[in-house]
Amino acid sequence: MPKGKVTFEYERCKGCLLCVVNCPKKILYQDMETLNKSGYNIIKVSEPDKCIGCAFCAMMCPDSVITVEVEK
Ligand code: SF4
Ligand code: SF4
Repeated sequence: MPKGKVTFEYERCKGCLLCVVNCPKKILYQDMETLNKSGYNIIKVSEPDKCIGCAFCAMMCPDSVITVEVEK
């Protein structure tokens, strides 16, 4: 199984949650304690080891917040 590493350009996030609901591993969540400069709660990865690098999160994001690197 490939492994993925997900990084976020937090300041671009608008908190739409499309990444969260489309992650097949359900490892993305909205951090209710951290706001970006636009006032949106940012997205974090709960269990980075479970990321499979599918990039569904990045494909769904309308604001190009997410970069996925796949380690083979
Ligand atoms: S790359 Fe896939 S498994 Fe990893 S966080 Fe994004 S949607 Fe989830
Ligand atoms: S899909 Fe993009 S803009 Fe929407 S919550 Fe996720 S990272 Fe933020």
